[in-house]
Amino acid sequence: MTTEQAVNDIIAAGRCLYQRGLTAGTDGNISVRCGDTVFITASGVSKGRLTAADIVPLDLDGRPLTCGAKPSSEAALHIYVYRNRPDVGAVVHAHPPFATAYALAGKDLPQDLVEARLMLGKIPLLPFAEAGTLRLAEQAGEAARAYRGALLADHGAAAWDRQLETAVCLMEAIEQVAKTSFYGQMLRREI
Ligand SMILES: [Zn+2]
Repeated sequence: MTTEQAVNDIIAAGRCLYQRGLTAGTDGNISVRCGDTVFITASGVSKGRLTAADIVPLDLDGRPLTCGAKPSSEAALHIYVYRNRPDVGAVVHAHPPFATAYALAGKDLPQDLVEARLMLGKIPLLPFAEAGTLRLAEQAGEAARAYRGALLADHGAAAWDRQLETAVCLMEAIEQVAKTSFYGQMLRREI
């Protein structure tokens, strides 16, 4: 994959996450790994309006390779996932409202729905760690060894895969499962 492809893929993924309501404001971050370089979204930019100047190249220690935009404050989370999973080529972190509501309520993503069982597998809720900290990054890196994504307590969700397109699909599925499960639980209470 060329730098241009990586940058274009991240811009397209950002637009997709934003248009589907999986990110709002400037929340979330997206990265792609190309060999020993990780391309990640800059800090404080809307994922719906990314340009090439908003994508920052990092080495595998998380150090910026250019002196342009400042990388996302969650860069360490992405780096720890890549370190523990050499097969992973993309990481997506977002604050989708229903998935984040489960994370806020202290619950794992429900496992009843078919896409949860067949596509996602278990998506655990990680213990609370402040956003942007090494502790959060370590927990996500550890979760990446066994799972396709995770809920971050009081914060949001993260998903990873070989391809960016699939990582975005996983994030969509996480939110869909959370949303459907939420409505299902409400209806059960009414019947
Ligand atoms: Zn976040």
